[in-house]
Amino acid sequence: MTPAAHRGRAASADGLKTAATNTWCPGCGNFAVLNAVRATLQTLIDEGTPREDIVVVADIGCHGKIMDYLGVNSFNALHGRCVAAAVGIKLANPRLKVIVHGGDGGTFAEGLEHTLFAAKRNVDITLILHDNGVYGLTIGQAGPETPPGYRGRSTPYGSVEEPFNPLELLHVAGATYLARGYTHGIPLLKRLYREAILHPGFSVVDTLQVCVTFRNMYEAYNARVYELDGHDPRDQAQARAKIREWDYRSEAPIALGTFCVRDRALWGEQFAGYGREPLDADARLAEVFASLT
Ligand code: SF4
Repeated sequence: MTPAAHRGRAASADGLKTAATNTWCPGCGNFAVLNAVRATLQTLIDEGTPREDIVVVADIGCHGKIMDYLGVNSFNALHGRCVAAAVGIKLANPRLKVIVHGGDGGTFAEGLEHTLFAAKRNVDITLILHDNGVYGLTIGQAGPETPPGYRGRSTPYGSVEEPFNPLELLHVAGATYLARGYTHGIPLLKRLYREAILHPGFSVVDTLQVCVTFRNMYEAYNARVYELDGHDPRDQAQARAKIREWDYRSEAPIALGTFCVRDRALWGEQFAGYGREPLDADARLAEVFASLT
């Protein structure tokens, strides 16, 4: 099969499905993320993005199984290292569309430094955050997004820590596209995922992905979510105010949509002129030795 024929088959025949058996709990929010990502990637492929130019990276967690269910190139990183692996893939081959699926635990606990530095450097990758505020795969321990009072295996008397506001953290760190979606809203998720993937720079979609087994938030979220209207994501004062409206623990309204879009140089552009002149190692060494005598 020629590459072109392969691309044609890939783009239309299987809808990016795989033969893997899905093992998520019935009702898990990960299903909505999978459906929204699959539809988004299919649209991008139909519009001309080669399927082989898409790479999905994930680490350990229930969310990480999404790689098994998406028929595109993928890389399974160590826990908390999904952003670091994605940065390496992007720097090695800037042509690729690199999409990271991270859990709130790995991304904001074990891998926090990688996440912040990818934002600081504005690396051109997309982070889809599966944000359920709990470590689901390891049966419900509290994590960095868990609000106080949560009772789980590691906090039987209730967690006492405040959760991060991940969007506020990444806004300060320098991310250039920030949005929030919810797994009870696939049309909005598809729009946000598409915007994020096409955005040049470090883009993040915080996806409120409910864990029905250990932290079922459907009722609470359904009562409080609303879509941003009349918000200007290029106005950074507005972006900051909307991002801070909900602190991930209070009963405040929860805005969904695109909070922030801004332009910054991409990581790597600064090095465009580097390495153009071939290094004459012998001549350079001779210069160094001459300077020492
Ligand atoms: Fe989903 Fe929670 Fe089940 Fe994991 S434990 S598959 S996050 S519902």
